[in-house]
Amino acid sequence: SIQGMSKEHIMAIRNKNINPMTSKITYYKKPVFIHQGHMQWLWDMDGRRYLDLFAGVATVAVGHCHPKVTAAVEKQLKKLWHTTNIYVNAPLHEYCEKLASHLPDPLKVIYLTNSGSEANDLAMLMARIHTGNYDIITFRGSYHGGSQQTMGLTSQSSYKYPIATSSGCTHTMCPDVFRGPWGGSHCRDSPVQTIRQCSCVQGQCMANEHYIGQLKETFAASVPSRVAGFFGEPIQGMGGAVQYPKNYFKEAYKLVREKGGVCIADEVQTGFGRTGTHFWGFQGYGVLPDIVTMAKGIGNGFPMAAVVTTPEIAASFAKAYHFNTFGGNSVACAVGSAVLNVRINLQNCHHVGTYLMTELAKLRDKHEIIGDVRGKGLQIGVEMVKDKTFRIQPPMCITTADVDFFLAVFDKAIHNYMDRQ
Ligand code: PMP
Repeated sequence: SIQGMSKEHIMAIRNKNINPMTSKITYYKKPVFIHQGHMQWLWDMDGRRYLDLFAGVATVAVGHCHPKVTAAVEKQLKKLWHTTNIYVNAPLHEYCEKLASHLPDPLKVIYLTNSGSEANDLAMLMARIHTGNYDIITFRGSYHGGSQQTMGLTSQSSYKYPIATSSGCTHTMCPDVFRGPWGGSHCRDSPVQTIRQCSCVQGQCMANEHYIGQLKETFAASVPSRVAGFFGEPIQGMGGAVQYPKNYFKEAYKLVREKGGVCIADEVQTGFGRTGTHFWGFQGYGVLPDIVTMAKGIGNGFPMAAVVTTPEIAASFAKAYHFNTFGGNSVACAVGSAVLNVRINLQNCHHVGTYLMTELAKLRDKHEIIGDVRGKGLQIGVEMVKDKTFRIQPPMCITTADVDFFLAVFDKAIHNYMDRQ
């Protein structure tokens, strides 16, 4: 039992007292009762061990209950849990100095929040206050949060209620080089390209031109002459690890700035080294956003998030008080510092992720049901062409031996599935 509770008792509570959607989304006929975690491993209440390739939606960055992070929390818990930011306390300042050192100039001013939705809410507000404009653009298929403001920005119908969410949010065509009308091999920044024929001409990415053309059409059709901002996940997370043509962001950022808008990178899933080559997903595209939002991996599973911006935008935003009780909480800051002290192993993330994608591409060639394998580092998508996209976003401490174990299980699972059809 988990803390003295039987499985039946747990399910009765789940069905009666917990958000009913939670009971619906288990993806399993028999739910998994998770009891304990360590690094890339989870154990259920029967003592069965699982290799965790989802990390609570790309959230457990350095490993479940990482000993160094756990030790830092224990130390802070005995000292101070909370005051507000109006008092000066070391953990907050130590953390902000560390986080700022991981961001390029002039992205140095930090606002700590508690969730990704809250961070994106704040970024939307900042973009509007700073520019004096209202309209915000993002991609179809994006996920930026479930609050009433960010729900307007999110572009997946299953997460939308029929109410007035944030107005002024417009969704442009997602430059998806696998499923979209244009694209193909060589278009995206991934060790594995699509098997789809490429429409590039002499190294020039035609898909990029077409999708940028769509962004221009979105401006022309749906927004006034000036815009407040453009949100982009460097690799779409909830949308299924969707990747764009390599130069899309560079050109899109330029167009948005010409329209008076600021550029916001939603690094909630892609930040903290997940893409392997860089600490932030935007760095892989050679662009510099005006605002960066982050959550999930920032706290390795502890609820915390942040918005980072430039001194100029922060000055515009200082026209009113912005207060957040738990943003900058001492325990959260101790967790954040410990995560950064662990030094996320970019090289491992890149090496293991590349190996995993290369091997998955072999399974794609073998099984009809796998349409595409894509991603970067440990932000990986496997598109099942008659089913939903399968996402792989493990703790970044996994090894190639773990990958071999997964590949054998995955191959067998597909065989079993196909045999049943
Ligand atoms: N942005 C992205 C890219 C996300 O994936 C998510 C959560 N899945 C959010 C924002 C919202 O974060 P939270 O659930 O912490 O509010």
